[in-house]
Amino acid sequence: MPPRDIAIAGCGPAGLAAALLLHRDGHRVALYERFETARPVGSGLMIQPTGRAVLRALGLEATTAAAGAPIERLFGLSEPSGRAVLDVRYDALGADAPRGIGIHRAALFHTLHEAVRAEGIPVFTGRPISSSTHTADGRRHVVFADGTHSAPVDLVVDALGTSSPLAPPTGRPLPYGALWATLDWVDDAGFDAEALEQRYERASRMVGVLPIGRTAPDGPRKLAFFWSLRADHLEAWRSAGLAPWKAEAQTLWPRIAPLLAQIDDPAQLTFARYAHRTLPVPTEPGLIHLGDAWHSTSPQLGQGANMALLDAYALALALRQTDTVAAACTRAVALRRAHVRLYQGMSTLFTPVYQSDGTLLPLARDWIAGPLAKIWPLPPLLATIVSGLVGDPLARLGLEG
Ligand SMILES: Cc1cc2nc3c(=O)[nH]c(=O)nc-3n(C[C@H](O)[C@H](O)[C@H](O)COP(=O)(O)OP(=O)(O)OC[C@H]3O[C@@H](n4cnc5c(N)ncnc54)[C@H](O)[C@@H]3O)c2cc1C
Repeated sequence: MPPRDIAIAGCGPAGLAAALLLHRDGHRVALYERFETARPVGSGLMIQPTGRAVLRALGLEATTAAAGAPIERLFGLSEPSGRAVLDVRYDALGADAPRGIGIHRAALFHTLHEAVRAEGIPVFTGRPISSSTHTADGRRHVVFADGTHSAPVDLVVDALGTSSPLAPPTGRPLPYGALWATLDWVDDAGFDAEALEQRYERASRMVGVLPIGRTAPDGPRKLAFFWSLRADHLEAWRSAGLAPWKAEAQTLWPRIAPLLAQIDDPAQLTFARYAHRTLPVPTEPGLIHLGDAWHSTSPQLGQGANMALLDAYALALALRQTDTVAAACTRAVALRRAHVRLYQGMSTLFTPVYQSDGTLLPLARDWIAGPLAKIWPLPPLLATIVSGLVGDPLARLGLEG
């Protein structure tokens, strides 16, 4: 395809990766972001082998791995019984199988953003986007909140995340979200430095710790700490003050005492509400929705940023394989749709088991999950699910695992 003018809306993983890939293919790309200084919001996340494959293709895997922490295992116990309800090891797929990476959002953002900057891709910040309209000649503008608009482009890439104003409303907010904080790693607290660890009581209470490496090259090691909370309990949590919550959390997992000691202000915890939504048709003439703008869900399976990277790669590949923008958008969606459906479906199944007010499913989970997870073929199957590899998304994109 000859070089096209492409406006990319949003500087999250989807937008930054798409900008790099499309720029390297010779397209004329510009990025638009609402923040004055492009920056990420939130704490840690997990890069899975799928996301690693895209970062490798971008030449950024080693930098990402160096900034983050290698994750070998996802491990959760139900309390007070102490039964294992989550036990997934990446090495179930082989000693050389790629592992997860726990990383702070800022570190992932920094890696991608530095590459964008180094390649001279224009990034327009302080530009909140409100809509996108057609121009008289059938191209598109991005329209900003102040009523001004971008130059006309052949394609608008919507990478504005789950509340994208460019996407039609769909889906539903989930009752639960979580409070997240970035805290200092504590060496002698007994946490596994290579595991995402969680403690549950039924599915309504959950606390977790994810090693995320360093947020600055010479800085201290960090972890992401999260506490599951119903969105409609947030105000009550705020008005009660930290003391009763700390007592509750420490009863669930006494080992977190030195982490709770680092929290003396509720503002250290950011509440993230989850929504489950999938656009049935993620393209319109001259527009494609990628990442969370196309599909988002609760982070039970830790796939969102990885899916965003895969979507970006699929768009670049589709533009190489077709000769019109419309055909490329259709092809990009076709390359990703089955994988998106699979993982959105699995998230729908897992959420009531791990984050809900239900009692029966979590009870069954407590008895079954631990023993079952040890019986072949469950260990490699669970590792495949967590790695994001069900449905072989990498082969469809010609990426190496
Ligand atoms: C608490 C939490 C934990 C998570 N854990 C994981 C995990 O472990 N692994 C994983 O893979 N995923 C995880 N996810 C999901 C993951 O963060 C998202 O799927 C991923 O960030 C989606 O990337 P994106 O680029 O599509 O959108 P986003 O990261 O949301 O980026 C959107 C960008 O668009 C900008 N923007 C938004 N609206 C406008 C506007 N109107 N105008 C201009 N700019 C705008 C935003 O500022 C942002 O820069 C988690 C999500 C949450 C909330």
